[in-house]
Amino acid sequence: MIPFSPPRIDDKIIAEVVDTLKSGWITTGPKTKLFEKKLAEYTGAKACLCLNSATAGLELILRWFGVGKGDEVIIPAYTYCATANVVIHCGATPVMVDVEKDTFNIDPKKLKLAITAKTKVIIPVDIAGLPCNYDEIHNIVNSPVIKEYFTPENEIQKQLGRILIMADAAHSLGAKYKNNNSGTLTDISVFSFHAVKNLTTAEGGAIALNLLKGFDNEELYKFLCVLGLHGQNKDALAKTSGNWRYDVITAGYKVNMTDIQASMGLVELARYDDDTLVKRRYIFEVYDNAFNHDEKYILPLFKTNESTSSFHVYLLRIKDISEAQRDEIITKINEKGVSVNVHFQPLPLLSFYKSLGYDIKDYPQAFDNYKCEISLPVFYDITNEQLHTIINAVKTSVREVIG
Ligand SMILES: *Cc1c(COP(=O)(O)O)cnc(C)c1O
Repeated sequence: MIPFSPPRIDDKIIAEVVDTLKSGWITTGPKTKLFEKKLAEYTGAKACLCLNSATAGLELILRWFGVGKGDEVIIPAYTYCATANVVIHCGATPVMVDVEKDTFNIDPKKLKLAITAKTKVIIPVDIAGLPCNYDEIHNIVNSPVIKEYFTPENEIQKQLGRILIMADAAHSLGAKYKNNNSGTLTDISVFSFHAVKNLTTAEGGAIALNLLKGFDNEELYKFLCVLGLHGQNKDALAKTSGNWRYDVITAGYKVNMTDIQASMGLVELARYDDDTLVKRRYIFEVYDNAFNHDEKYILPLFKTNESTSSFHVYLLRIKDISEAQRDEIITKINEKGVSVNVHFQPLPLLSFYKSLGYDIKDYPQAFDNYKCEISLPVFYDITNEQLHTIINAVKTSVREVIG
């Protein structure tokens, strides 16, 4: 069976992890701090904070911004459940917005209509690694009419004076929008280093800070370190050499990254642009060349006038098929020894969100994109022979089902 996206675990990764194990320092320590520094250099963000997941990063920022009961946070209907769940954890209401046909990303026109006096945060998601239309989103949030609506409820919100834009950049490390890197495209961005993501630390994530207007990103970085470690004002590293006394300044969370994770991240980041992304782009191009001669297929966008993707997921669509036909095609592809996936089931299709009253009828484009979508395998160690097998399996299965 050709897998969907196994991690790249080679001797370099193993050696670096073993080095950490032998060093005696396995929790948050020098390697995590180094990885944070390298991530900030790589993205151009003003500071980066590493955590045990992107989910933790998204929630930490919502908590810092004071999002809670009565507040609304705008998210796309087409995303992974993490984007919605963090909003719910904070007691606020996720307001779901439909997406664009071509990019799968949140539709700025519909986003604008969803803003109310309760809107505190917008979480655009760079689906499959293609950045959202950030110029439009910034224009909306900064327009005088929309700023009028904004009702600050604490000092941080007052200082910002508008809706916070926090990108769910779980897919888009290494992507570009108008020559700027993902991580610097919004106030705050959150990356994921989960096992299936482009760059993995097994589990992990990072917050990239890029706040303007008198915000001290370095100070915020320090505060988030504390908030992510039980509100304890010194971490284990800072407590070494007799410096034992610490204080707890808030009931914080426990979401720090370990040096074992960071050692994987350091190896991955050093070869990310020149090796990982080159290979992923090559795979995308092979798929494009295989499917672009046939009218039946809608190819994913991974390079536009504004954006270059990070080539995270290859979202192939098949014109005019039903959800049932898509599912049948997937079964047939699986029978030919190839793992494929669907990214994503729009959240209003899932039981929990249905029970809260979300209805897929309100998100027709999300459903249309989803019902005919099949994500193809993309991973570093994929061979040309495997690509050939995958392409044949897809084409044959599509023919078997729709002729
Ligand atoms: C993977 C993913 C997340 C969550 O990342 P974790 O690191 O697993 O918390 C959030 N949003 C999207 C769009 C994702 O694909």
